[in-house]
Amino acid sequence: MLIRILLGSLLLGAAGLLPAQALHVYAIDVEGGKSTLYVSPSGETMLVDTGYAGNNNRDANRIAAAAKAAGVKRIDYLVVTHYHGDHAGGVPQLAAQMPIGKIYDHGDNIEKTNQKTIAVFEPFAALRAKYPHQTVQPGDVIPIKGLDVRIVAAAGDSIAKPLPGAGQPNPLCSTYEALPPDPGENARSLAMIITFGNLRISDLGDLFWDKEYDLACPVNKLGIVDIYMTTHHGTATSSSPQIVHALHPRVAIMNNGASKGGSAKAWTTIETSPGLEDLWQLHYSNEGGKDHNVKEKFIANPSAENDGGYAIEVLAHPGGSFVVRNNRNGFEKNYRK
Ligand SMILES: [Zn+2]
Repeated sequence: MLIRILLGSLLLGAAGLLPAQALHVYAIDVEGGKSTLYVSPSGETMLVDTGYAGNNNRDANRIAAAAKAAGVKRIDYLVVTHYHGDHAGGVPQLAAQMPIGKIYDHGDNIEKTNQKTIAVFEPFAALRAKYPHQTVQPGDVIPIKGLDVRIVAAAGDSIAKPLPGAGQPNPLCSTYEALPPDPGENARSLAMIITFGNLRISDLGDLFWDKEYDLACPVNKLGIVDIYMTTHHGTATSSSPQIVHALHPRVAIMNNGASKGGSAKAWTTIETSPGLEDLWQLHYSNEGGKDHNVKEKFIANPSAENDGGYAIEVLAHPGGSFVVRNNRNGFEKNYRK
């Protein structure tokens, strides 16, 4: 009976009512960029990235809509993983719409001659100078009440020691196939493990293949997670088997666009991950075609004609059970611990 009541409250929560003990996560559709809102049961909020600038404030509007749906009015902790336009571009537009408590990032822009990145970084740097701001290092925490948010990589460095309970040898390291390192901002991404009671989520920004290796080999420094927020939108140069299969997620949520990320290679690695129950996608992937996309009910925005900017929501109980919901069609699934 108690279980029925708990599950009932989870399902109600996924339908819009926020139970006081639940973590609410919105994977917001920013059309192939990244913006993920975490609302702690304490009422504090953390936003990881802001999507793009421009587009008549499209991405800032979608973030504000998600916050409104969650019943919150401000972003207490804004985490900017790196300075590409699909992550940091929307910061000024968001700041014009919502109060921001404090900004966290990895420091300076490394792409000193890339005009597109400079055009993102300069307005961001001007804005962050007006807010409380902290450059974080591996091992630091984002102090949102009710969650443990631990930075595991920043500015190209990763945690020296495994997280508590992690550190198991990773047998897949022996079959690792190296790719040339990325010299730019993706590899500098802030990456984090978010713990809420018995629930763990990985959110690794756009970390590149070799930086994933640093976290996963020769031992798995991160441990296992319940939810894998896909790294770099499901692009083929991230989401190696070494890290995805070591993380052993039950659910993955892919922040791909129709023609951004969603590669057949990363999709296959995730779909074949041992223990994976479901992959959810923000968009149908054109590259994936009929063989490398999930069933339509798991896709928030399945076509250019049917793209309402819908989010994928997670409502999690501290015991480790969680519900994932497709905001387009209301389809939701309960993952019991
Ligand atoms: Zn990106």
